[in-house]
Amino acid sequence: MNLEVDKHRLMSEIEELALISDAEAPAVTRIVFTPTDLIARAWFLARCKEAGLAIRQDAIGNIFARWNGQDPNATAVATGSHIDAIPNAGKYDGVVGVLGGLEAIRALQQSGFTPKRSIELILFTSEEPTRFGIGCLGSRLLSGSLSPEAAKKLTDKDGAPIEQIRRAAGLQEELETVKLPAGHYQAFVELHIEQGALLEQKQIPLGIVSKIAAPSSFRIFIEGAGGHAGGVLMPDRRDALCAASELILAIEHQAKASGSTDTVATVGICEVFPGAVNSIPSRVNLSVDIRDTDLQRRDSVIGAMDASSHVIAAKRGITIRQELVNADAPGDCAANIVETLSESCRKHGLSFLTIVSRAYHDSLFMSRIAPVGMLFIPCRNGYSHRPDEYASPDDIARGTLVLAETLGSLAG
Ligand SMILES: [Zn+2]
Repeated sequence: MNLEVDKHRLMSEIEELALISDAEAPAVTRIVFTPTDLIARAWFLARCKEAGLAIRQDAIGNIFARWNGQDPNATAVATGSHIDAIPNAGKYDGVVGVLGGLEAIRALQQSGFTPKRSIELILFTSEEPTRFGIGCLGSRLLSGSLSPEAAKKLTDKDGAPIEQIRRAAGLQEELETVKLPAGHYQAFVELHIEQGALLEQKQIPLGIVSKIAAPSSFRIFIEGAGGHAGGVLMPDRRDALCAASELILAIEHQAKASGSTDTVATVGICEVFPGAVNSIPSRVNLSVDIRDTDLQRRDSVIGAMDASSHVIAAKRGITIRQELVNADAPGDCAANIVETLSESCRKHGLSFLTIVSRAYHDSLFMSRIAPVGMLFIPCRNGYSHRPDEYASPDDIARGTLVLAETLGSLAG
């Protein structure tokens, strides 16, 4: 195989997709099933058709673009990622894995290679939790990690039901048809920017992921008592925002005290009601994200957060109610795929680092039904989910080359 990645074509496609956005460049905002997201999907489908790939779309909008292999009975090898982007994000998160995956397939096609197994490029729906409050919606449903019944209860921020939203986007089938059986894929490999700074700091061009950290997220509802900011004296107050502040700091403290830098906890949303300068906050809603590479250690931080909630609620005479959004087990990458990725790096004289994925990805859920591997490329300063997210064309091309080599090896 003489593989050549067309870096110019790949970069111009990344730039082109970045312009399909609800934010002003260089920021990218692409929320699932918005008109902008639907335009981006149509654009992606057109690129796949140009490459001669056979298209299938499931009921949640996961797109499968298949290069048919010679043996129709052999299980397929898959790659892919997502193109949805949180508000004011960058151009590369997810996109590198989707368009890099497409370019990897085209590089294989142009090398004259004919795969025995089909190679499938997957665009996963709503990896980002922005609209429905849960990340990796498409890969969760596809892998059976989220039941269709639970998915049907999801609504977006404005209260619109997911069933209505997806049908308006042209997806008429039932969600029960989305799940794929274990063994459906021979392998799944995802190319992604690191979203951390380790590769850059060590000046190593590629990271081969060994395991994916276990994420969990919660909504916390704090209810105190409102009142006039002048009229209610301090001893009589049950201020929900003061209680929330205490809880936020307690969560930070517990994550720092876990004994490992792998433990991270973030309160990313704080909604205050009624939200007026002269009114005591009566209610606060928080969203909390706690993750770790070690399930037990993560769960002990969750336990400590629970304990703090009880103490703060009792002390301040308020109620704190917690709702679990998701708590997933960590995922391991498959040894044979890690080895194939390593071999591909060696073949092209590229050094690599074995690395832990601290962010979670569609690969985590794919690991429930298929052997998975992940390949990371550096991103500047580790920045991600912000407009100045950046991965260099050379790094993107290198990652794509190793992905192509790996898909070729796995597809035989
Ligand atoms: Zn991503």
